[in-house]
Amino acid sequence: MADKQDYYETLGVKREATPDEIKKAYRKMAMKYHPDHNQGNKESEEKFKQVSEAYEVLSDDKKRSIYDKYGFEGMKSQFGPGGFDFNRDFTHAEDLSDIFNNLFGGGGGIFETLFGGGRGRRSSPPPGAQDGQDLRYDMEIDLEEAIFGASKEISIPTTHDCKTCKGSGAAEGTKRETCKQCNGSGTVVSGGGFFMMQQPCPVCRGEGSVVRTPCKSCAGSGRVKEKTRILLRIPKGVDTGLRVRVAGRGEGGLRGGRDGDLYVVFHVRQHGIFERNGDDLECVVPVAPDVAALGGEVEVPTVDGFAKLKLAPGTPNGKSFRLRGKGCQSANGTGTGDLVVRISIEVPARMNARQKKALEEFAAASEMSSYPEARKFRDRADAFLAKRDSLKSAK
Ligand SMILES: [Zn+2]
Ligand SMILES: [Zn+2]
Repeated sequence: MADKQDYYETLGVKREATPDEIKKAYRKMAMKYHPDHNQGNKESEEKFKQVSEAYEVLSDDKKRSIYDKYGFEGMKSQFGPGGFDFNRDFTHAEDLSDIFNNLFGGGGGIFETLFGGGRGRRSSPPPGAQDGQDLRYDMEIDLEEAIFGASKEISIPTTHDCKTCKGSGAAEGTKRETCKQCNGSGTVVSGGGFFMMQQPCPVCRGEGSVVRTPCKSCAGSGRVKEKTRILLRIPKGVDTGLRVRVAGRGEGGLRGGRDGDLYVVFHVRQHGIFERNGDDLECVVPVAPDVAALGGEVEVPTVDGFAKLKLAPGTPNGKSFRLRGKGCQSANGTGTGDLVVRISIEVPARMNARQKKALEEFAAASEMSSYPEARKFRDRADAFLAKRDSLKSAK
């Protein structure tokens, strides 16, 4: 327990809150302060721990009643001497991984990698076992895939124990033999007198045993390279930099060690018309000058299909409109962004004779009062030159 805190205040709930309300409040807070959404931010990490501690107490009837009666001091007896310890005392990991399962489709999500829990406690690993390395895979996806979600097959080259010899390296029907050089100890002593040095055995490279008849599948190494195909589910709303953990799909463990994990990091490609800004989508829509001047309807593409945008007569170039809820669904399920549409008036690149004639007539009928900006500009330009002249004549 770092600092004295009011657990109800921390979760932002009333003292008589129901367990359901407490759970809801906790989920919201955990999402907000989760270290993976706030990388390197010490403050939110601290806040996350506080929120977890509060939830640990208030979600447990017994602890909650002790807390209600004796307050913060009463909790000292509930946690160990060092106070609340996330890794030891937090017994509601499933509530958290729930949240992040939604996000990352199965497995414990980020949660496990952060706190090292949830992988399932394994009985002690076999001797010589070595856990496989985690792998990172950078994946480029289209904006459409990022917005709507997708499934993609990827092929990851990994190294695993050879299936034929089960990683021993010895041919079928044979076994590894005790190394004669070191008598199976894996080390040899060199030097003499005062300078005796222990070194890994050069014959068996410290393993204590050697392969006499090598396995044909792996040439005696015990390891094979293979490409694993993985069907990856891209969650809706992912953005560049977001990652998904695929448990057990990294490098294979050695001699019975656990397989590493695969981390897929997303990179969203640039799109032809949309730009993403958080969960908002931004889009510049070309509009004909007559439509902007007379007013009218413009079709704009949204995640739900085309929408009609009404322009008032005299809509200026660059005016933007916000279409609520027509942006990206956020990856952590906290809501949906907006679509921001900006008007860009397109001067006709080519005109036919009729258009030209009409425009010439339009020009002939034009008055300065139609163009307040141009008028203002002209007034200021005149004032500039008038001042210049008065300064000149005063000299
Ligand atoms: Zn040896
Ligand atoms: Zn083999």
